[in-house]
Amino acid sequence: MKKKPFVTKEQLEKITSEYATPFHLYDEAGIRENARALKEAFSWNKGYREYFAVKPTPNPFLMDILRDYGCGYDCSSLTELMLSEAVGVEPGDIMFSSNDTPAEEFAYADKLGAIINLDDITHIDFLEETIGRIPETISCRYNPGGLFKITNDIMDNPGDAKYGMTTEQIFEAFRILKRKGAKEFGIHAFLASNTVTNEYYPMLAKVLFELAVKLQEETGAHIQFINLSGGIGIPYKPDQEPNDIAVIGDGVRKVYEEVLVPAGMGDVAIYTELGRFMLGPYGCLVTKAIHEKHTHKEYIGVDACAANLMRPAIYGAYHHITVMGKEEEPHDHMYDVTGSLCENCDKFAIDRMLPKIDMGDYLVIHDSGAHGFSMGYNYNGRLRSAEVLLKEDGSTKLIRRAETPADYFATFDCFEIAEKLPKRENE
Ligand SMILES: *Cc1c(COP(=O)(O)O)cnc(C)c1O
Repeated sequence: MKKKPFVTKEQLEKITSEYATPFHLYDEAGIRENARALKEAFSWNKGYREYFAVKPTPNPFLMDILRDYGCGYDCSSLTELMLSEAVGVEPGDIMFSSNDTPAEEFAYADKLGAIINLDDITHIDFLEETIGRIPETISCRYNPGGLFKITNDIMDNPGDAKYGMTTEQIFEAFRILKRKGAKEFGIHAFLASNTVTNEYYPMLAKVLFELAVKLQEETGAHIQFINLSGGIGIPYKPDQEPNDIAVIGDGVRKVYEEVLVPAGMGDVAIYTELGRFMLGPYGCLVTKAIHEKHTHKEYIGVDACAANLMRPAIYGAYHHITVMGKEEEPHDHMYDVTGSLCENCDKFAIDRMLPKIDMGDYLVIHDSGAHGFSMGYNYNGRLRSAEVLLKEDGSTKLIRRAETPADYFATFDCFEIAEKLPKRENE
């Protein structure tokens, strides 16, 4: 499949005349269409709800768009809870799927009426001591251990993951929670990340549904929901076949009818906590070629760096690059596309065949809509970029301004040095 940017060269020229590169650009039309398709794919389940995982793209304007499709929010930290609160939440609108959780965050989540998803059996006592009771609705995170395989392909290694409770522990946790007053239960598991196959969710569903039947039988706890969590991936590479969410939804339905319905559990709600799938393809990093260097290799230096998009540097992840306006030109130049960090891993692409790049060309780095801006950092004193929303009517809206040096220095504000730090004209 050919990967095409969601923005044209003409549109981008207009946008870059208004916002300085680099910036992350988001596609409202794409976000809406995809959210609609997800909702439709699970419409067979009465209680279905997507709790959008805030972690990959914590921007309140984007979170707000997803509310139109009934989404709640999946949070795992204090600031994610606060962002959700700012967007506006009612009790039950937040799933708090945290781990290694500070007491203060359990308390805050409880104050907002979040559904708390316990990562460990020891968190039962920790939570009870923190908030003085066990909530009536509670969820437990499961980790079956071992390898998670689809036929013979190893998808991921839950046995090596820090999350969740063992089988024995989750049974014990349910008994304890029930004794302490919990009335409605949920189970949750996240066993493989960025899966580009329609089989992951149905396979995970089978594991969780069978566990749910046993849990309800053996502990008498009423299971209200099963949370399939995140993990549905996106095709970062042009040769990857995208997931078909309708096929995935139908695959989960089949397992539901095979396992839960015969056990008298046809009232169980299915929840998801997708992040990457919701926003990944609908964001891109827009950057400009500012240097070319011909040494032992051919380098193109751009004005973005790993501080804006870290995945290539830390995971060696592939992100497709389009040189705007040159889509149809022969891709007969091999480049390393680099950022400015004094770290040799700061390369958006290595040995990538691209059309000849001229200084001033705009490069669109695809699929930065999730785990993009959010993983940004300030190494080398680099500042985080702006985020811009391309609206359905073709206009744009700034949804986060770029950092300034004053933001970077803000945590010195209680020291004398603050007065000596130069200010820039626009601050
Ligand atoms: C990161 C995360 C998600 C979202 O994962 P994606 O792969 O982006 O869909 C969902 N749930 C939990 C608990 C997570 O940590």
